[in-house]
Amino acid sequence: MPAMSDSRFENLTTGILALQGAFHEHAVALEKCGATARKVRRRRDLAGLDALVIPGGESTTIGKLMVSYHLLDEIKGLGAEGLPMLGTCAGLVMLAREVVDGDQPLLGLMDIKVRRNAFGRQVKSFEAALDVQALGEDPFPGIFIRAPWIESAGPGVDILAEYDGHGIAARQDKMLVTAFHPELTDDLRLHELFLRMVYEDRR
Ligand code: GLN
Repeated sequence: MPAMSDSRFENLTTGILALQGAFHEHAVALEKCGATARKVRRRRDLAGLDALVIPGGESTTIGKLMVSYHLLDEIKGLGAEGLPMLGTCAGLVMLAREVVDGDQPLLGLMDIKVRRNAFGRQVKSFEAALDVQALGEDPFPGIFIRAPWIESAGPGVDILAEYDGHGIAARQDKMLVTAFHPELTDDLRLHELFLRMVYEDRR
């Protein structure tokens, strides 16, 4: 997909939690779409954001770092107030209300229960062409790296895509999550969908 900077996104400032994981790639993708990207490491970096991305990485590590940087409760509060958020892979885990067999710090902002590293030991990483109707007819290149899946979801959650019968992308109000890594492809449709949600939220 060619980069399609959209002037509607020019005034949007999107934070990317930058404690661990694939945060830089999200910043590049958001800027290609025309938005401003700001890395978030301290509480003060959250001021005045229009949206926040929780990237992939290792959710146990990201959660622990969020606690020690005093960001967990702060971000939970912003989410409860309606700040739009995008969570990819470990970010999907962080946004979940519950992890199967897990006990780790979570934001718990989406009514989903997730299974970490769900696709099995042998197949830790793979690519698949995904049918995601919300992104249009063309298949989306899904990159899965020790990815979670959505085990169950509450009634307010829209499952946007499935793979092997399991939810791998979902939306609830202004929260969007994927088990795969759109920031590691040059297909900007998922980031554009998120920025459209953010833009509509601001109007
Ligand atoms: N397996 C990781 C976790 O549960 C997620 C992997 C990823 O973000 N690529 O945190």
